[in-house]
Amino acid sequence: MENANLPDNIKSIWRSFADKTFFPNLESDAKADVAIIGGGITGVTTALLLKEAGYDVVLVEAMKVGAGNTGHSTGNLYIAVEEGFDTIQSKYDTETLKTVISARAEAMALIEQNVARFNIDCDLHKRSWYCYSANEENCNKIEKIYNAARDAGVAITEIAQGELPFPVAKGVKIDNQAQFNPLAYTQQLAVAIDGESCRIYENSPVTAIEEQDGMQFVRTPQGSVSAKYLVHATHTPKGVFLDFHSLLGTYREYGIAAKLNSGDYPDGTFWGYYNNNERFSVRTYEHEGEKRIIVVGQPHEVGQKRDNNENIARLEEFLHQHFDVREVTNRWGGQHYKSADVLPYIGRRSADSNVLVATGFSTDGLTYGTLSAMIIRDELFEKETEYTKLFSAARHNPLKAAGNVIKENAINAVELIKGYVFKHGNAQDVAAGEGKVIDSDGRKLAVYREEGGDLRACSAICTHLGCVVSWNSAEKTWDCPCHASRFDVDGCIIEGPALIPLEKVEVEGK
Ligand SMILES: Cc1cc2nc3c(=O)[nH]c(=O)nc-3n(C[C@H](O)[C@H](O)[C@H](O)COP(=O)(O)OP(=O)(O)OC[C@H]3O[C@@H](n4cnc5c(N)ncnc54)[C@H](O)[C@@H]3O)c2cc1C
Repeated sequence: MENANLPDNIKSIWRSFADKTFFPNLESDAKADVAIIGGGITGVTTALLLKEAGYDVVLVEAMKVGAGNTGHSTGNLYIAVEEGFDTIQSKYDTETLKTVISARAEAMALIEQNVARFNIDCDLHKRSWYCYSANEENCNKIEKIYNAARDAGVAITEIAQGELPFPVAKGVKIDNQAQFNPLAYTQQLAVAIDGESCRIYENSPVTAIEEQDGMQFVRTPQGSVSAKYLVHATHTPKGVFLDFHSLLGTYREYGIAAKLNSGDYPDGTFWGYYNNNERFSVRTYEHEGEKRIIVVGQPHEVGQKRDNNENIARLEEFLHQHFDVREVTNRWGGQHYKSADVLPYIGRRSADSNVLVATGFSTDGLTYGTLSAMIIRDELFEKETEYTKLFSAARHNPLKAAGNVIKENAINAVELIKGYVFKHGNAQDVAAGEGKVIDSDGRKLAVYREEGGDLRACSAICTHLGCVVSWNSAEKTWDCPCHASRFDVDGCIIEGPALIPLEKVEVEGK
């Protein structure tokens, strides 16, 4: 089976500033106490903590370590949350907010310890986190964030006009937050822990998962892992997990990195609220004297944007408005999953299950992924803590869940399918560099025409639950609007819950 190829036209900054890893493929059957699927920050940190707790661990990664969303994030570490402290306080209460903050602070401390302990070269630095409104309209939100943080005992302060490189109507800051290169961190951590009781395999996509006689079997093309416990460290659980997939909002969001003409690269993590609900996150990255400015934002629901080149263009426009840009060096997209009740789902799938999950991180998952490792270790030891309880994957919070997450996704997906996908005619209509879903003898095909004119086609029916995929023009992938599985132009899986690639199809004609 072929592995997915991440397109080169769209490449995260971290792929330009990290080495490659060279772990072997899984080529025969293996046994372990714990099988971990996924080599992002969640899987690798979980492997570390379980190995150190005395478990024998096998980790299988479909692509390369860190190649998933960890390598497509912004690399900011902070106790704040994307929705704002006030959202947690109002949905829950101040005590819950305090627990979330202390959990995130402990996870950040673990990252710092790992960097020091394993001598990881990932440009980890302390930075302030700033959150501001560029207009009067959002000052109220900043006020609420400030008040909730104060209630929870956070050392948050108001900032003065002119303190930031952006026009600010109202802003706040928290010192002693951090930034790093998330791909370099995860890769080097994986190298440090790989060994006899922790075996890491790359290019080994899991294609089936079975449970027999209390054992978990994880199948890859050339070998299987059998284990008592199974951890889905795959950002969203693999296979059919409707208990989670129906509660997750699925989003793509974009990033760009650039060189500036002038040397004024701002130090800090800057989250800005703008008109029309737009938000931008800005930071600087520096490696061995080379600097880049990074801007991230412009989310949309997966598979539901006709032309996402617009989203990237908007980031570039924002950057040019505020900085003297010499050259945009990187453009990329990443995925995130929002839980229905604002907190991630971490731990055993149900109270007595040996299957554990870690999902619903929103854009806060470098820290939540690290926290997941701590919670999963505690759960395997049957240790109940305030974190295992609060973030429990087995929790049911119907009153706190925004039921509209799934409803909106489902409705939008149906609308999109009705209004767009089925209209298209045949392969001749597909222009060079474009993809379209066509109806061919009653069969929906996902057809892409290479710049050179050749066609590549596969079934347009997502192998997860049978929705029709849609074309992602900026990243040149097929994305499923239902539960966010993504496939390359040959149908190989890039991410999401699907376990089986799209079926490849030969199409005739130029
Ligand atoms: C634009 C953007 C910016 C962000 N910025 C930040 C930030 O600044 N700070 C922050 O805290 N969070 C941020 N996040 C969120 C963060 O990137 C993620 O939550 C985090 O990286 C999740 O890590 P993970 O290990 O759980 O998932 P991933 O890094 O996605 O790892 C999952 C791994 O599972 C593998 N996998 C999938 N299927 C299979 C299979 N079948 N077999 C084997 N392996 C498989 C994948 O290849 C992948 O490597 C951002 C997200 C986005 C989209």
